[in-house]
Amino acid sequence: MEIYGEYDVVIAGGGTAGVSAAIASARAGARTILIERFGVLGGQMNVSGPPGFAYCHLWNKRGEQCLAGIIEETHHRLEKDGHALPYPPPEERRGRAFAFVDPDWWGLMIFEMMTENKVDLLLHSLAVGVLKEGDAVRGGIVENTSGRQVVLGKVIIECTGEGDIAARAGAPYEQVSKDEFEIEPPSISFTMDGMDWNKFIKYANENPEDIMVVRRRGEASELQAVKKGIERLKNARNVMDLVPIGALALRAITEKALANGDYHQYGDLGFFFTPREGGKIQAIFQHSSQVYQCDATDVRDLTAGEVEARRQVVIALKAARKYIPGFDTAYLTRITSYLRIRETRRIMGDYKLAMEDVYGGKKFKDVIGKSVMTMGSHHTATIHTLAFVPGRTEIKDGGSFDLPYRMLVPQKVENMLVAGKMVSTERDCYLRFLPETMETGQAAGVAAAICARKGITPRQLEKDVKELQDTLVKQGAILSGTH
Ligand SMILES: Cc1cc2nc3c(=O)[nH]c(=O)nc-3n(C[C@H](O)[C@H](O)[C@H](O)COP(=O)(O)OP(=O)(O)OC[C@H]3O[C@@H](n4cnc5c(N)ncnc54)[C@H](O)[C@@H]3O)c2cc1C
Repeated sequence: MEIYGEYDVVIAGGGTAGVSAAIASARAGARTILIERFGVLGGQMNVSGPPGFAYCHLWNKRGEQCLAGIIEETHHRLEKDGHALPYPPPEERRGRAFAFVDPDWWGLMIFEMMTENKVDLLLHSLAVGVLKEGDAVRGGIVENTSGRQVVLGKVIIECTGEGDIAARAGAPYEQVSKDEFEIEPPSISFTMDGMDWNKFIKYANENPEDIMVVRRRGEASELQAVKKGIERLKNARNVMDLVPIGALALRAITEKALANGDYHQYGDLGFFFTPREGGKIQAIFQHSSQVYQCDATDVRDLTAGEVEARRQVVIALKAARKYIPGFDTAYLTRITSYLRIRETRRIMGDYKLAMEDVYGGKKFKDVIGKSVMTMGSHHTATIHTLAFVPGRTEIKDGGSFDLPYRMLVPQKVENMLVAGKMVSTERDCYLRFLPETMETGQAAGVAAAICARKGITPRQLEKDVKELQDTLVKQGAILSGTH
């Protein structure tokens, strides 16, 4: 097999985890290559995204900032150039806080950052497996228009989102079975523009209860947020006044369209906001196509899911124009190119994050980042969109929980790290949101660079994580000093 090149660190998958790993590894001094199957970087952030609330959840409920590093750096960079909405004012930076970015400018910025940090790119290349000696991975195997090649590396970081490569390398994983559970549904998202926001705002002023609904089980914090949202809706004068609310559920409109036979039953007709150049705001619908029981590790399900999602998108577009006030003139501006997958494999590592760690606000000696994210629910392919998960509450003392390094070290395979939404957790504390994918990516990148330099395996690094933590802090991460 042709040898494409030899690197310290080889990263498979260029989503938010992969690009963060690449930047961090290169900044930590490693010769780094990033392999991506498409010609564009970003994955679910901007290719199958944009996300409704990409840059939120950096603060705990006490108002302390718990997450930083590359996630913060990229937001500031976009904001400076007018491609991101600012963070909410300091008094509102508590728990659920929204900060939207322009997905296309995000994608362009990431290419600049690859060049600035001297990350080599291998695009249009599908990683298909690894080269192994015993349990040790020695490189990633790719297929592309030039044929089949091996990219040799001292450490491989698996960031493909679904864990295909770690699974093929022999790492154990967990995944929910269709026979027992409803898999969180994948979606095709789309944006609309050309609506008359003034008409929509008039509807929001007059019908705030139709939009702000209690989705979960009526916790005090949720009721407070709903109350605040209703006040905002009543008093909104322009679309920017709606943006801080984040998700507009439009439950009454969804139910009416469904009752009239003009809508499907698999998601709500609500939207989030996408900032565009010149202060323009688009509506982004990301819950309006949701494929029921699609196992994204089964290519037959994936193929059928792509067809079904688009069927639902057409229905949703027509219903949006017919039922949402101000949207009769709206048109489709962006449809994502492939199914955006919520739930597949979790690769089992040397530590599996547990629900009790999350809600107990657990602190670990090998902390590589923090999270304040508790959704309290699973996505479900119904017009209610979210289903409450029993046992979920708030994090102890309104604080955060630590992410331990051992979550990134897969069992039974040497010289490999994993990052992104596949990291080792129980199902109900699945770390599938963007801030955590960037944090785990950044930590895996630094860890891989240190291992490559010292000639040790990621598992051996577990014994002494001081240099890893010091480097992460130098790179802007927050590892201590907060609840
Ligand atoms: C509908 C929906 C809405 C969401 N909304 C939000 C939100 O509002 N806020 C939020 O924080 N999070 C949101 N999320 C979650 C978040 O978008 C994802 O969890 C996150 O983007 C995943 O990042 P990742 O890097 O782990 O994986 P991905 O983004 O999936 O990246 C994987 C990358 O690897 C590439 N790849 C895959 N296989 C191979 C291969 N074999 N060889 C080479 N390359 C490969 C892919 O092309 C891709 O670029 C949402 C998710 C969904 C499904």
